[in-house]
Amino acid sequence: MTWSIRWKVMLGTLVAVVCGLLIASGMTVQALERQRFAQLGEILDAKTKLIEYGFQPLFGRNRSSLSPTQLQETARDLGTRASAQVTLLAADGTVLADSAVQGAELAVIEKHAARPEIDQALSTGQGQDIRSGHTTGDRTMYRAVLIQTAPENSPLVLRVGIPMVVLDRELSEIRQHLFWALGLAFLVALPLSMWLAHNITKPLSDIASAARQLSSGNHALHIRTTAQDEVGLLASTLNQMVDQLQAKIDELSEDRTQLLAVLASMVEGVMVLDYRGHVLQVNPALERMFGISRVEARGRPCTDLFRHQQLTELVAIILRSPAHRQDEIVLPLTGRCLQIEASPAGGKRDNEACVVLVFHDITELRRLEKIRKDFVANVSHELRTPLTSIKGYVEALLDGATDDPVASKNFLDIILKQSDRLNLIIEDLLELSKIESGRVSLKEEPLELQSLVERTLSMVKPMADKKRHHLITAIMPSLPSVAGDEGRLAQVLTNLLDNAIKYTPAGGTITVSAALAPSSEASQRPVNAIDLSVSDTGMGIPEQDRPRVFERFYRVDKARSRELGGTGLGLAIVKHIVEGHGGHVWVEANHPQGSRFVVRLPLGSTARGSRSMTEADKI
Ligand code: ADP
Repeated sequence: MTWSIRWKVMLGTLVAVVCGLLIASGMTVQALERQRFAQLGEILDAKTKLIEYGFQPLFGRNRSSLSPTQLQETARDLGTRASAQVTLLAADGTVLADSAVQGAELAVIEKHAARPEIDQALSTGQGQDIRSGHTTGDRTMYRAVLIQTAPENSPLVLRVGIPMVVLDRELSEIRQHLFWALGLAFLVALPLSMWLAHNITKPLSDIASAARQLSSGNHALHIRTTAQDEVGLLASTLNQMVDQLQAKIDELSEDRTQLLAVLASMVEGVMVLDYRGHVLQVNPALERMFGISRVEARGRPCTDLFRHQQLTELVAIILRSPAHRQDEIVLPLTGRCLQIEASPAGGKRDNEACVVLVFHDITELRRLEKIRKDFVANVSHELRTPLTSIKGYVEALLDGATDDPVASKNFLDIILKQSDRLNLIIEDLLELSKIESGRVSLKEEPLELQSLVERTLSMVKPMADKKRHHLITAIMPSLPSVAGDEGRLAQVLTNLLDNAIKYTPAGGTITVSAALAPSSEASQRPVNAIDLSVSDTGMGIPEQDRPRVFERFYRVDKARSRELGGTGLGLAIVKHIVEGHGGHVWVEANHPQGSRFVVRLPLGSTARGSRSMTEADKI
């Protein structure tokens, strides 16, 4: 059982008070007893002397002349006068006379030599003792003196006893009074000690309860105490401690919030491991990258969580020898390419950061690098093909082909054709680069699609006629005008028509149509745009190639394209111009045969400029 401080203080005070009172009253009784004994002793001494004096007439005579009766009567007489028990004894302890008994009883009284006061008196001349008397039964104070009678007689012992009944009663009364006083003092001390204990322990229990609240996380408390003593000092120290603790906690939680905000806003995935390689922290970007949740990740070994051999090895290496490391991994499921920066953080215990891994998603970068490389390779290839041809024919001419006028004309025609092609490629490249770099500012003027289509068709008509194509227009009447750059949109239409003519076998049908864009399937709301489309009855484009035909130099059939004088850049230019107008372009199958290129242009100038070119577009 544990005792509270309050109980300890209360009981301690009570015990101290009771013990103090007991000791004080004991000492008082003792002192009183001593004083009363001394007084009684003096009285007894005086009475003994007087009684001895009363016996003197008898002692002067010869012992043999003394009758026992005379002695007994004198003893009884003196005893009555002195209110004392008077006993006269022979030196051997035989009782010669005793005022407390009748003369006849003297013969049966035993010898008193062994009584302490008699024994003392016989050896030292006087003796004293207090005990309960045989005859009276009360406590009696005895005093014995040795009396030298006539020289021829042996000495006698006179013993005087006075009862202590009165004194004992007095002392017992005093003890009783003291007992009641003690009880009263106890009753007064009890509430006092309770009050005292409460006063002393109240601030302490306040502090204890405050400490309990503190440990349960309530840091907003303030201990109130008016005490100026050590308890008050303790309370104010505790208050200071709480304030400092709160400030520290605030500071730490601010730091933590900032850190979490930084981690949450990072594009890079971050993972923190402890010295065993168990996950301590992951940020949202990492959750997205690996498709895991923070809750399932925390506390699990990194190797179990990701099951990626390369990552496991990297973690094992850095845990073994802490030094900054870098690696690149490819995620098998998503195919995403991640660059990992692994840095040691120095933690050596549970919950201490030991390794920090930062994952950069470089999939796009790698893709762009690949596109850039492909582009360079494509450009070189595209330029090299006509150049090789030109070089070959020039060499043939130099080698003497000039002597044959027919052959040399033929060669020069080819050289001219290849030079034109080279020129076309370079012009298209420059055009594309101008559009992409933003050096071409697109005008925003209201355009009547009907007249734009008609003008463009009249330009390509000779080419279409050569292949006996039917050109059809299907422009929805009273279409709202589009805001755009007439020249550039004409270029878009020309490129699409040019392709349609090129990739449709002779005698095909090419249709240019314009209509309001149908409402989107998802929202069922009308799309505020106009669809301008060019469809043909040509060879069509396989489904898998459709999304890629807008890439530079992408051709479905390379040889065919070159043969038809294509540069592979026409649709890339179309795409950039359309997107520069805030629209977009796609190709779909035309039924029953051929392709259908759709340019969707927004009505009004809402979307214009909203599209920023991606890195891929700019290459
Ligand atoms: P090119 O100069 O080679 O025509 P484009 O960028 O204009 O280059 O077109 C890219 C490729 O898309 C072409 O090589 C061709 O294979 C395919 N293509 C474009 N338009 C059509 C069409 N109307 N029908 C079939 N294929 C087409």
